[in-house]
Amino acid sequence: MPLSPEEIAARLAEVRARIEAACQRARRATESVELVAVSKLQPPEAIRAAFAAGQRSFGESYAQELRDKAEALADLPGLRWHAIGPLQLNKVKYVARVAHLFHALDRLEVAQELSRRRSGPPLPCLLEVNLAGESTKHGLRPEQVPALLEALGSIPELKLSVRGLMCLPPYTEEPERSRPHFRSLSALAGSLGLAELSMGTTADYEVAVEEGATLLRVGTAIFGERA
Ligand SMILES: *Cc1c(COP(=O)(O)O)cnc(C)c1O
Repeated sequence: MPLSPEEIAARLAEVRARIEAACQRARRATESVELVAVSKLQPPEAIRAAFAAGQRSFGESYAQELRDKAEALADLPGLRWHAIGPLQLNKVKYVARVAHLFHALDRLEVAQELSRRRSGPPLPCLLEVNLAGESTKHGLRPEQVPALLEALGSIPELKLSVRGLMCLPPYTEEPERSRPHFRSLSALAGSLGLAELSMGTTADYEVAVEEGATLLRVGTAIFGERA
């Protein structure tokens, strides 16, 4: 059962209040953090409810679902789609068409296909980094990041621009366990001169704010459990 619009609005307000408190603890401006409401596997009505409560950025993991929802919700002005999941080459076109930011670039082939499929201005992207070396997860190992950045320079008519890094640390019920990963990601981005840090989910977004996240990807805390 999807949550009611009232419940979604209340949960969104709670998440926003927690982000604001974390910003105050970290002496950061609230505007320096963008909340991406992760709406994957949630119905379009749930997105409409969050939109009505002022939310504008939404995150989707699956390219076809992103395509379908972008079509179903094309009447919502100013809605920004964040593609947060890994991409198969044959699905790149959907992201190239509608995404405001792609968070999970991790191989050259996807970058090449994005460049081929993108018309209009370059697509802002983040590189996904697999900090814990988990074999089940996508993403680059930290030491592979400079090589991919350099390889991107060889793409003719590059239609993407790398703005920062993204990570999804091992799932934990203890937010503090994510802190070292967030710190590593922040240090890596700093060493590469990249400004954006997409990190923190329902499990650990307050810690992510304290460690410098500029984009938070929060789903369950806003929309409830996924179908
Ligand atoms: C699903 C997902 C999230 C949101 O997770 P919640 O626990 O629901 O907040 C964040 N990031 C990525 C990459 C995801 O796939």
